Amino acid sequence: MIAVYPGSFDPITLGHLDIIERGCQLFEKVIVAVARNPNKQPLFSIQQRLAQIQTCTQHLANLELDTFDTLTVTYAQKRKAQVLLRGLRVLSDFEYELQMAHTNHSLSSQVETVFLATSNEYSFLSSSLVKEIAKFGGLVSHLVPENVAIELEECFTKTPPFVSIPTPTAPTTPMD
Ligand code: ADP
Repeated sequence: MIAVYPGSFDPITLGHLDIIERGCQLFEKVIVAVARNPNKQPLFSIQQRLAQIQTCTQHLANLELDTFDTLTVTYAQKRKAQVLLRGLRVLSDFEYELQMAHTNHSLSSQVETVFLATSNEYSFLSSSLVKEIAKFGGLVSHLVPENVAIELEECFTKTPPFVSIPTPTAPTTPMD
C-alpha cells in the first residue's frame, strides 16, 4: 500500500521525521509531498525544503519526495496512493484534521486518512514554534534534524529579527 504524507514542512522537524520513519515501517512506499501553497509565505523555498528532507531521510529506502499544487486527494489518486498519512499532536490538531479527513473522503472514497499519534517527546513541536525559537537565537538542535538546525541558524544570522525603529522625538512646543 502506498501512503502520501502531505504537508508544508517549513521546515521539517523531528516530529515530522518520526511520522515518516514510522510510516515507512507500515507502508510499502511513503511519498512525502510538499505542498506548493501560494497562500502561505514560507521561510524556505520548495527546493530548500525538498533538499532538507532528502538529507535527513537517506536511510529510508521506501521513501519518495515530491511536490504538489492540486487537491491532496487528486494528487494521491494520481500517485495511486490509498492512504493519506497525517500526524496528530494535541487536541487542537484533532478538529482540523478530522474536518480535512471527512472532506477528503467526500471527494474520494478510495483514499483513507490514517493518523499516527505523535511520539510523546514531539507532541509540542511544530515548524512555526521552531522558526520562532530560531528567530530569537534560541537552540533548535534538539527539535530539528542537524542540517535544518544549521540552515535555520544561517537564515536568521543573515536576517536579524530586530529592525531598529527610531524613537519618536517629543513634540516641540510651538513658539509664540
Ligand atoms: P500542514 O500545513 O499541512 O499542517 P505541516 O508541515 O505543519 O503541514 O504538518 C504536516 C503533518 O505533520 C500534519 O499532519 C501535522 O499534524 C503533522 N505534524 C507536524 N508536527 C508534528 C509533530 N511534532 N508530531 C507529529 N505530527 C506532526
